[in-house]
Amino acid sequence: MLSAWTQAQADTIVLKNGRRIIVLSVAIEGEKVRYQTAAGELSLPKSIVDHIEKGAGAQVADSGSAGAASLAITPPVIEMNEESAVIESGAVHNGAVDRVFISKLEGEAHSGSAEAAVNAALAHHAAAQFELSHGDMERALIDERTALTYAPEDALLLLNLAYLHLRRSEYRQALNYLDRARRVGPQNADVAKLAGWAYYGMNKLEQAVSEWQRALALRPDAEVRAALEKAQRDQQEEENYKENESLHFTLRYSGGAQPALAREILRALEIHFSAIESELNYSPPEPIGVILYTQQAFADITRAPRWAGALNDGRIRVPVQGLTELTPDLSRVLKHELTHSFIGQKTRNRAPTWIQEGVAQWMEGARSGEMAAALVQNYDAKQAPRLGDLETSWIKLSTFAATYAYSWALANIEYIVQSGSMVDIQRILDRLAAGSATDQAVHEVLHSDYDELMRSTVEYLRKTYVR
Ligand SMILES: [Zn+2]
Repeated sequence: MLSAWTQAQADTIVLKNGRRIIVLSVAIEGEKVRYQTAAGELSLPKSIVDHIEKGAGAQVADSGSAGAASLAITPPVIEMNEESAVIESGAVHNGAVDRVFISKLEGEAHSGSAEAAVNAALAHHAAAQFELSHGDMERALIDERTALTYAPEDALLLLNLAYLHLRRSEYRQALNYLDRARRVGPQNADVAKLAGWAYYGMNKLEQAVSEWQRALALRPDAEVRAALEKAQRDQQEEENYKENESLHFTLRYSGGAQPALAREILRALEIHFSAIESELNYSPPEPIGVILYTQQAFADITRAPRWAGALNDGRIRVPVQGLTELTPDLSRVLKHELTHSFIGQKTRNRAPTWIQEGVAQWMEGARSGEMAAALVQNYDAKQAPRLGDLETSWIKLSTFAATYAYSWALANIEYIVQSGSMVDIQRILDRLAAGSATDQAVHEVLHSDYDELMRSTVEYLRKTYVR
């Protein structure tokens, strides 16, 4: 099996089983679809192709939240020939995985040839790809692991397993598979590409940079170049930074910040960590990176809008210019941003914005009192946003709309906690982690749909705060 990473201006062949093959160029000739890849020209029977998208390559399926988990990096692609295309369309067709077909291949593999084992591996891999494209990470992992049992030395399967773990922010597991892939193919550019991602996620910038440089030396790649530039920007800025570590955090700060402040911040973070850990009944497996910036450096590095107080893009970035001690405000901001890290890791970046911001505000101690009357009025005037519209990024909202978005997010979370308990939030987050849509998760846990939840929240606000 050969590998090829996608290029920015590539075409995409969409198969009837839903799989997308990203290629350099593609042409239809009679009953065949011929396409160019880094590995040369390949072809597929036209009968298994649904359609072709021109110039649509290199799309990242989903980037629910920023951070290492959503670097613009596409999965390693297993090139197909006609034989393997037949296996794939046997394993996945009519919008579903054909388990009967797959177990038939497994039967043949157990009794037979090396080729039969490769076919069984390929079928499980096809099932995993299908599940990944439908957001079912758990099943994708199970199928990809099974695929590997039939072809334990296959670099592409090892890479795909690493990729799945990277998408779940499970960097150490990813590195285990990448080490194995590197033993099979020491000159494999994709191994270095994914290893860079793993180290970046673990806040090991130096190793990330060197892996990505190695990847580029082995093969030009637009995604790697962009990732490397981002890592080097971070690295340059942080070069003169001092580093502190505590049990759950690595903290970096510039020479301008006070070492005493850095120590206080770490202490506060550890206290917040324990509090959030018990509220959410969850402990993030990876150390959390925190960076203290002076204001100018903050804007330069993050390219965040001016109004952003702090930021969590996988690492917690906090502007501390002029501060010499931990103020109550700063402590509150730290707890808010830390909550985002917890929710991001717990749900594998699947939580919608209103849940992220609602829970983060709740944890920092915000309550709806001051805004309650305005929210009730907003709702009665039929101007309240729908929760479904608050799932995606708020970055484009006006300041006014953003104020209401934050307030409604808090009010809904506050209602859920006060009318039940934090356990309801935990259960919603668990369902999001398992791949449920948010309205579905809410319905399963609270037995109400989005409109009913809003109505109950308004009732709660009226009863609790408005006379
Ligand atoms: Zn926030």
